[in-house]
Amino acid sequence: MTSVLGVISAKGGVGKTTTTANLAAALAQKGYNVTAVDGNITTPNLSIHLGCALYPVTLHDVLLGRAPIEQAIYHHPCGMRVVPASLAVSDLCVKPEMFQAAVSGLLRGRGLLIIDGAAGLGREARAVMAAADSLLIVTNPDLPSVTDALKAVRLAAQNGKPVLGVVLNRVGAYPSQMSAEEVVGMMDVPVLVSIPEDGAVPASIAAQTPVVLWKPRSRAARAYKHLAGIIVGEREPEAGSLLESLLGFFRR
Ligand code: ADP
Ligand code: MG
Repeated sequence: MTSVLGVISAKGGVGKTTTTANLAAALAQKGYNVTAVDGNITTPNLSIHLGCALYPVTLHDVLLGRAPIEQAIYHHPCGMRVVPASLAVSDLCVKPEMFQAAVSGLLRGRGLLIIDGAAGLGREARAVMAAADSLLIVTNPDLPSVTDALKAVRLAAQNGKPVLGVVLNRVGAYPSQMSAEEVVGMMDVPVLVSIPEDGAVPASIAAQTPVVLWKPRSRAARAYKHLAGIIVGEREPEAGSLLESLLGFFRR
């Protein structure tokens, strides 16, 4: 049963934070109990995407024993909760393994946790993988991104972590991109949704508001809301018995 969903990609800049922010916001709008957690220990930016970068208490304060977890939970106007990470250079001493323990010990049980993973497959990203019950893989439809994403899928398999599927982001940005079928063929994991390249996304990030809230009728917003529908079982995934574990969480 999934209550902790990790969002990873291996490659940086493909849309993990955008996906975390928008999936969490779309689920909150549907009335689900959801908490977005920044799993980027050294270079966090979920709080920037969500407009709470000035929130005074972070996950780092909790990990360093400076505050209880309750104080590090920001209530976003859309109904979701956010656990931001510290932007301060002085907090870089926190170890990724402490993050994993905090998720298991302090955050689990507070609705669906969606964790924004770090780039790469180093200790930070692996701590998110270890803390998660299941994973969403974000990739762009190009060979370097998909090659890195495939490595993340193989690492997930080695660790016994189910992969719900792939979020194929920035589709249509340029003509030579891989098709969804080619991505499935290479990764052997279903593509749950294709998120189009959409100027509304960078504009929404500049406005520090997820695009599903900032421009709900944009193509990207509609695709992210479609992903939320897939995650809660209202929309058909392309192939998806693994989603049953997550649906079980919401039916509970
Ligand atoms: P990651 O968390 O994987 O590093 P981000 O979510 O921060 O990636 O996205 C990186 C950048 O890509 C963002 O600043 C945004 O401008 C751009 N971006 C992401 N998704 C889209 C999209 N669907 N359309 C256009 N630009 C996008
Ligand atoms: Mg990010």
